[in-house]
Amino acid sequence: MTNRKTHCKAFAKPAFAPGLLLASTLILAACGGGSIPDPDAETPTADPGTPTTLTNSANGMSPFLCAVNGLCLSPVFGLIPKSPLPLNTQLAQSTYPWIDQAQNTILISAMPYVSGTVNVKNIDPAGFNLTITDTTSTNTAGINGIPYRYFKGNGLPNFAIGTFPVQPNTPAYPYYNALPGGSDLYPTADLIPVSTYNFESYIPKTPLENPKGPDGQVLPGPIASLIVGVSIHGTPWHIELANSATSWYNPASALPLDQCWGHPYNKQYHIHGYSWKCFPNQGKSGPSPLFGYALDGYGIYGPRGEDGQMITNTQLDKCHGHTASVMWDGKMISIYHYHVNREYPYSVGCFHGVVDYAKALPNSDMTQGLDYGKIVGLIPSIATAIPSQNLEQDIKILAATDQLTIFQFLSKIINNFLK
Ligand SMILES: [Zn+2]
Ligand SMILES: [Zn+2]
Repeated sequence: MTNRKTHCKAFAKPAFAPGLLLASTLILAACGGGSIPDPDAETPTADPGTPTTLTNSANGMSPFLCAVNGLCLSPVFGLIPKSPLPLNTQLAQSTYPWIDQAQNTILISAMPYVSGTVNVKNIDPAGFNLTITDTTSTNTAGINGIPYRYFKGNGLPNFAIGTFPVQPNTPAYPYYNALPGGSDLYPTADLIPVSTYNFESYIPKTPLENPKGPDGQVLPGPIASLIVGVSIHGTPWHIELANSATSWYNPASALPLDQCWGHPYNKQYHIHGYSWKCFPNQGKSGPSPLFGYALDGYGIYGPRGEDGQMITNTQLDKCHGHTASVMWDGKMISIYHYHVNREYPYSVGCFHGVVDYAKALPNSDMTQGLDYGKIVGLIPSIATAIPSQNLEQDIKILAATDQLTIFQFLSKIINNFLK
């Protein structure tokens, strides 16, 4: 294990700028110990579908590849000022002890979780204080009266998290201590705490499906933000990607998470795929309940599908969702939705619906102070799904003019595509 830290340093000292994704690997928060509010602890019979391993991302796969088992990342990431992300790099493998190299799986029990069990009221006396309110607002295209679910909270979840700053002499410490903290205040990542922030999002109540391509299939909308969805448990899901200077990784393979599969980025606690194990009131049989919403407004449900069995990627599309009957706003209806499960990318892989980034991520905390929210605010996520020689130019022009509406831009892209 002596080379563990060496390897960690090699991975974690990338020259990446105020790193978007790497930031994911910069700061983590944890739900340590065994005393997290675990729904399984309520009865002696655990969910028989509870996984012991998670599939890892495929070695060498492009994160821009919109495919089942993969991600669909927007080239917008490469246009962010100081972005460290070259557009031609691939998903790589870490060799940390919790990775089964032969099977390319993550051994859940081998994750050196961030220790501790912290009630979030010890971070802020308000504790978990999320409200979700039905409202109407004007979208970025200037259309009034759009129905939204308005999320407002402090970013703290309704479950216990690990101890941050990460404490010396705990299993996760060497990994965090080897990472840069991203600021003079926090020279190394082990020093970074979790704090409250302005957790706020307008999620469309009536999702708008992306246009269909020539094959009749709904075009996948690549992800152009760090946050991909908001949970009813008070904290966001981040994109399943972390980067070094030269490679991109599945975050859970590149840095220990806490026992709720969360960690802080920029002092903001957020979650990744397997976090569902800490969500309360999800039951042990039948379809999993709703856990939250993707930025496009479609629901994110737990790992049991409509038949009550753990859902697999073979049952899901490129965006990690499908259309089936689920409980939606109090009624059983057939509607598109996402699932979290044990197979990469675990949660949202791309967007089935149009994302209005400026509404979904309406403040600098939600955009991490980066410019992508502004840059893509007027660009439908679908725009980058369509191969275009001039795509980057289109985006630069759009960012510069700030004038086109979503629908004007969509028309332009689609017209180009149909030529
Ligand atoms: Zn993360
Ligand atoms: Zn389903």
